[in-house]
Amino acid sequence: MSLPDLSIDRITRSRRNVFASVRLDRLVEYRDDSEWVDQALSSDSARFVPLWRNRSLLANSDSGQVAVYLKPDELQQPDSIQVPTLLGTDGKRYFFAVSVNDRQQEDILATHPQASFLDLRLASVDMDAKHAGVLAYAKALHYWQYRHAFCGICGSANRLESSGHKLVCNNEECGRQSFPRIDPAIIVLVTHENACLLGRNANWPEKRFSTLAGFVEPGESLEDALVREVFEEAQVKLKGIRYVSSQPWPFPASAMCGFHAEAESRQCGATEEMEEVRWFSVDELNTAVAQDEVRLPPPVSIAFRLIADWYKQQCGEDLDTQVRNAGSWLSRKGIK
Ligand SMILES: [Zn+2]
Repeated sequence: MSLPDLSIDRITRSRRNVFASVRLDRLVEYRDDSEWVDQALSSDSARFVPLWRNRSLLANSDSGQVAVYLKPDELQQPDSIQVPTLLGTDGKRYFFAVSVNDRQQEDILATHPQASFLDLRLASVDMDAKHAGVLAYAKALHYWQYRHAFCGICGSANRLESSGHKLVCNNEECGRQSFPRIDPAIIVLVTHENACLLGRNANWPEKRFSTLAGFVEPGESLEDALVREVFEEAQVKLKGIRYVSSQPWPFPASAMCGFHAEAESRQCGATEEMEEVRWFSVDELNTAVAQDEVRLPPPVSIAFRLIADWYKQQCGEDLDTQVRNAGSWLSRKGIK
């Protein structure tokens, strides 16, 4: 087996993934304590994480995009759309996700002229990891709450309970409870000897090559899904699999489970999902990136981290540096 050597433990590895480094105590034990929640909401330590039309409030700073949190006196009627969702505490502040209406959005931007409501997926390419995690957590719950406004059994309206972490059907005869949904997906860097396999999906941005990935189907283990997806996407057979780390990916509701896998051989082929699959040695990848023949996924993604771990193990260098030197994703996304 020649799977890349991994010298740090899994918790540390996962926390390097953007969106996974959030350090909030989620205060699960207080979600149903309405008296406690009301006190926290009205305290000076409350901070609102506003979402407007599924977009997050961010401001430009010297160190990149930073999250903007609102103090209680900066948002009138925080429950005008629905009750604030308790996210947790960092030991100093209590964070609540709030949905804001158009009027509130205008007021917020008028008092925070440097801020704007942005697509987190694009903005997070260049933001502080801790705050990316708080915003991702808020966005994921917000998405679930809005996509499950009605009961899946009887069609009646659902209401939010447990400080935003549970939906209950308003029809007393039904009363169905539902909880935030996450869609597990596998994502894998396949290697063979000194090369890694990257694929290109025709729907991706121009020149993007990345790791293979796919959703886990009902009745499958993560390992089953991985073996199936790698063959479906690249016609590659595997002889070894190793779990690496995971990442919440709220676009819209995935949990990415990252692996390294070793192929039986270099045999591979294009498929319906991948118009091109290619093996790259470190030198070949360097050349392809430098000549802008290949554009890797942004470092915010676990896909990039899986490739970067392999790269470091192969040549001792940081792939981040190599990609940044090539100009890369920041300029092409219009962020810088
Ligand atoms: Zn119902």
